Amino acid sequence: MYRLDLRRLILLLTIAATLLTLLNSFHASYRTLYRQLIAQTLEANRAYAAKLAHSTDNFLKAAQQQLAYSATLLPELFDRPEQLDAEVARLKGQTGTFNGVFIVRTDGRVLATAPNSLGLAGSVLKTQEMLAALRARQPRISAPYAGVRGYLLVFLSQPISTRDGRYLGYVGGAIHLGKHDGSLQALLGNHYYQDGSQLYVVDANRHLLHHQDPSQIGEIVNGNPAVEAVLRGEEGSRQLLDSQRTDMLAGYAPVASTGWGVVAQRPSTATLAALDDLMLEILFDVLLFFVPLLVAIWWLSKLIARPLQQLAITARHWEFSSAQEQIRHVHSWYFEAEQLKLAMLNGLALLHGKLGRLNQENITDPLTGLVNRRGQQFALKRWQEQQQPFAVIALDIDHFKQVNDNHGHDVGDQVLQHVSHLMDSVSRSSDLVCRSGGEEFVLLLPETSLEAATQVAERLRGLISHTQAPTGAFVTISAGVAHWPGSASSVPTVLKLADEALYRAKRNGRNRVVVTGQQEIGSEDAPLD
Ligand code: GH3
Ligand code: MG
Ligand code: MG
Repeated sequence: MYRLDLRRLILLLTIAATLLTLLNSFHASYRTLYRQLIAQTLEANRAYAAKLAHSTDNFLKAAQQQLAYSATLLPELFDRPEQLDAEVARLKGQTGTFNGVFIVRTDGRVLATAPNSLGLAGSVLKTQEMLAALRARQPRISAPYAGVRGYLLVFLSQPISTRDGRYLGYVGGAIHLGKHDGSLQALLGNHYYQDGSQLYVVDANRHLLHHQDPSQIGEIVNGNPAVEAVLRGEEGSRQLLDSQRTDMLAGYAPVASTGWGVVAQRPSTATLAALDDLMLEILFDVLLFFVPLLVAIWWLSKLIARPLQQLAITARHWEFSSAQEQIRHVHSWYFEAEQLKLAMLNGLALLHGKLGRLNQENITDPLTGLVNRRGQQFALKRWQEQQQPFAVIALDIDHFKQVNDNHGHDVGDQVLQHVSHLMDSVSRSSDLVCRSGGEEFVLLLPETSLEAATQVAERLRGLISHTQAPTGAFVTISAGVAHWPGSASSVPTVLKLADEALYRAKRNGRNRVVVTGQQEIGSEDAPLD
């Protein structure tokens, strides 16, 4: 069964943890910036509305002041029309606050106007506002209304009374709204952001006195929570849906002297447009940090996993004499790896020590020193459990009976030792050289392909047939090659296939190698014995 290795586990864990942390901080930055931008815009709008409310208040007070001062002079001049004309001209011309100035007597007759072109002098005014101003007998600022010429205006009036308290009439000034010649318009400004921001002023009856779209002036604003709040006299800010259902960040402040309200509002979308750019910048910074971090994680995971990985690989080849050397070379730089390494070395020492020697004797063939059939079975069982692929070379000395017959049993034994020595010389330290019985041998090669094993077999066959044996002549061998799990999925079947290939080599004339599933290769013309 496939199992993840330690290194992949470390990588998965650290990268997942890092990514989650990054995502979380990215999200937290987003939330913080979002709240900050909203709060900043709300506060900026509140401050702007408050400043304009204050300016408007001062402006109106100054205008009333001008009329009030004039009202103290006027009783003396009431019977002198030229002087009255001069006074209204002064009032109109001095600061440019008023678009028109009137002096009206208690019976509604207009005594003087500026500019003269109004042509109202001498007439009796009966409009509601003029009458209301007369009745008021106190300083008054009208609601916005359409004047005689149809312009929308507010009218400021100041009563005129003699020192002994006789009411003579009033002096009043009209200020145009929503026209470029209006002084209030000039005060509040005509320059607006192009992002849908709005600045407007409402009177106590929700009429628009000032708006960037002049056609809206005089309209009534309903359903705007900021307007409701400012007309209750509150100063502040809030996020709201305006009458067009647009999400707005509104700041508002009342104009104390008139009960008007100033509202500055900006669409939330305009404010948050900056957020995307900011987040991109943050993402870039984060990535700048993340890439080297990934490299560091990759490198560190390798460093941590390596000792355990090396120990694990060596454990697979536990029975080989090279294992001890390989384990010694593992760089165990941290506690667990060091303990495992020591334990493995102890285990191996035991195996090679007294206990091991007994076992070793059990699996060793005394004549050749090779692994016997029992040892071979043991190794095969381990490899099968560990899913360790391997190649098998089964080989048999040709006409060995004749060696015994011609030279005696002892020379026969020497030939067996001679052949095992040559087998040892062509094998790697990880290979297992076995005497499976009589003059039959098996060479087990882990991590070796069928092709590579065939080459080994062929090299061995050539070597034996060209090396002088203790008989004084040459012996030859026949060999069969198979692979597990390449040739068959069961280990006994693979051994059987190697044997069958070996007997095909015998039948086909000996001194040759036959590979399972292939024609025999590498034969020489005649046996040399
Ligand atoms: P083939 O080419 O078909 O393999 O012919 P062969 O003569 O080698 O085959 P056979 O199996 O007929 O003979 C094997 C002989 O090996 C029989 C046996 O006496 C001999 N033998 C088995 N074990 C030993 C041993 O330990 N020492 C000696 N000297 N001879 C042995
Ligand atoms: Mg034989
Ligand atoms: Mg035999």
